[in-house]
Amino acid sequence: MRTPTPCKFVSLTYPAVDGRITLMTKVLELARPDILALQPYQHAAWEPSLERMHANEMPWRANGDPSRAGLNRYPEPQPAELIDHLAQLYGVAPENVLAGRGSDEGIDLLVRAFCRAEHDSVLICPPTFGMYKVSARIQGAGVIEVPLSKERGFALDVTAVLAAWRPGTKLVFVCSPNNPTGNLVPAAEIERLCQELSGRALVVVDEAYIEFAEAPSVTALLPRYENLVVLRTLSKAYALAGARCGALLAHADIVSLLARVITPYALPTSTVESVLALTDKAHQTEAAQRIQTILQERARLEIELARLPLVRRVWHSAANFLLVECTDADRVLRAAAGVGLIIRDPRSQAGLANCVRISVGTPEHNERLLRGLAQASGAAA
Ligand code: PMP
Repeated sequence: MRTPTPCKFVSLTYPAVDGRITLMTKVLELARPDILALQPYQHAAWEPSLERMHANEMPWRANGDPSRAGLNRYPEPQPAELIDHLAQLYGVAPENVLAGRGSDEGIDLLVRAFCRAEHDSVLICPPTFGMYKVSARIQGAGVIEVPLSKERGFALDVTAVLAAWRPGTKLVFVCSPNNPTGNLVPAAEIERLCQELSGRALVVVDEAYIEFAEAPSVTALLPRYENLVVLRTLSKAYALAGARCGALLAHADIVSLLARVITPYALPTSTVESVLALTDKAHQTEAAQRIQTILQERARLEIELARLPLVRRVWHSAANFLLVECTDADRVLRAAAGVGLIIRDPRSQAGLANCVRISVGTPEHNERLLRGLAQASGAAA
């Protein structure tokens, strides 16, 4: 029997058979072979019990440095305290969490680690969040588009997704609730994708808005499907978009692989400390209360907007925004600006002619917007 050959890949050892590496986790066969073989950057060892003379840092803090750890020091890569905290927040084991600078970084890492330029592709279901396509294009990967079904409330067409899969389609992005349409993808459909695409593609479920959906996250499915990846973010429900922190939840081997690709000290000390301070139990309660207010305001806006002559249709939303089809989107955008508010113009996306996307604001913002649109319609406020 051959002795196992240590693989260059983090902590796993793979037995060599006829000179080829046999991967222990099937899902890693989807990754770029050169990334699997990559010798990652050796960052300065994290040894908090010792005084640091190994990272070419200044030994003194800058005057007025407000941080706990000291901004003169490089942060811990994947800080254990943050990872444990995110694991608890999202109900997974720490080994299933990769923290990054927002979900945007998770999307980028997946595309870079799994898609070979000129060879591989991602599959997306437009209209949807724009970064899946942009990240793929930057990487030189192909983009297969399977439109959502507008007639069925922008529902995902699972059969069409499966039919569109090609060898080399490594990532299937599913946004739930979807930005900008607001609809939730049923968990049963995600399970079907995971089952049917097992060994063929990762199913990446972007749950940036799940806290507004009054539905469970598909994170609970992670132990059953090694090709499932869930993206969560602190940018929305936790009011920390400026902190830039998101969590990629996946099989431990996917997390280890991506940890080899992420920039060495990805999470700034100020981000780590802010996140730990602002997502504790008290802040979780605060976030839950604010989400309730957003849900009430979303329901009110949905009804009130639908009454306006300038509005043709308001799509039901499970997120903190509403997609609105107008009779004249330019007029609606101008009317919003006229009362000092900016709303999103998503019309460059197929299927969204004459639409705007409105993020639910404070009750005062929402009232002001309704008044502005009512005035522009010539209707009574
Ligand atoms: N996914 C979706 C669906 C989004 O709408 C956004 C931001 N608008 C992101 C991911 C990126 O979020 P983050 O701030 O976590 O990078």
